[in-house]
Amino acid sequence: MSVALEAAPSRPSTTNTTNLVGLDREELREALVAVDVPERELRMRTSQLWHWIYHRGATDFGAMTNVSKRFRAALSDRCGLSRGDVASERISSDGTRKWLVRFADGNEVETVYIPEEDRGTLCVSSQVGCTLNCRFCHTGTQRLVRNLTAAEIVSQVMIARDSLEEWPSPSQDRLISNIVLMGMGEPLYNYDNVARALNIVMDAEGISISRRRITLSTAGVVPLMSRVGVELGVNLAVSLHAVSDAVRDVLVPLNRRYPIAELMEACRTYPGATNSRRITFEYVMLKGINDSLEDAKSLVDLISGIPAKINLIPFNPWPGAPYECSAPETIDRFGDFVNRAGYASPVRAPRGRDIMAACGQLKSASERRPGGRRGRNP
Ligand code: SAH
Repeated sequence: MSVALEAAPSRPSTTNTTNLVGLDREELREALVAVDVPERELRMRTSQLWHWIYHRGATDFGAMTNVSKRFRAALSDRCGLSRGDVASERISSDGTRKWLVRFADGNEVETVYIPEEDRGTLCVSSQVGCTLNCRFCHTGTQRLVRNLTAAEIVSQVMIARDSLEEWPSPSQDRLISNIVLMGMGEPLYNYDNVARALNIVMDAEGISISRRRITLSTAGVVPLMSRVGVELGVNLAVSLHAVSDAVRDVLVPLNRRYPIAELMEACRTYPGATNSRRITFEYVMLKGINDSLEDAKSLVDLISGIPAKINLIPFNPWPGAPYECSAPETIDRFGDFVNRAGYASPVRAPRGRDIMAACGQLKSASERRPGGRRGRNP
């Protein structure tokens, strides 16, 4: 059984104030200039606020006890600490939590927390909806797409931390120990904002989640993949799902632009992939489509020479989905073959299916308004 919690009452929107949540250091400094912080205090005030916002998770300037009363009052008048509203929070029988987060323009995304024995993973969205239209993914059926701002991406982490009451940022035994960009959207179609958000999240004096514990998943936007390695240094996951262009063209239409050979070349040359930092290939198991032993053999050939592991994902159903999940024996047989060829091939346990929080089940109600503009790919 799953539990649905009441939607939090939404706070009145503060249109004439500057929201400080989600700003990087430079932007925070500029915001302080705008509220007349004198030049000689800027450095100190910026790091003070950074600490309160990202290390302590303050939601109220009044809590900032080492900040003078006058300055706190000025901040309260002219700045905000909003993370967006939690429109709903649902908790699965397996402990998975899903938040529907509503931003200032009314658009919504979903964020999922997956507790496991040795880690807690937060699955973050990078776009409202998704333009990729992968055939087996529920998010692809959503019509409205827009990029999230860096602040909206960081806000999802802060909301999860608020809800799990994990402030100040603990240095160990964290509830949220890992972050995966595997929610709604294609992170590499929103690279700049994702990069800015990750730099805030990784900052050692704030939320401080290490790049080694962050994984960015892409359906294969080949030209941007190397930047992930060079500029961000986070782990890379690639949604492969098929071993021939004929099948992948249908499952992941982006393949028509960046076919398998190019994708594999980008993986082979991915900066920073080593045996201790492998590329994860995600492979959704679809009955009769991509799950034969022949497919497993071709997969092993395809990834030969790449430090890789294969994450087999049992297909998670959604209303009207055109596929079925492979039988457990088929998944085992496929996994065994890949494993014997020398690649770790864990099967991703479906989590939060009862609250539609599992991989590929996320979808928010945001729809394109008539005449509204649709997000565009680069
Ligand atoms: N756009 C990025 C980020 C999304 S990650 C990407 O494609 O990698 C979400 C992962 O869940 C992807 O690997 C996606 O292919 C997978 N997925 C989508 N729908 C699914 C479903 N119904 N069942 C299982 N996995 C699914």
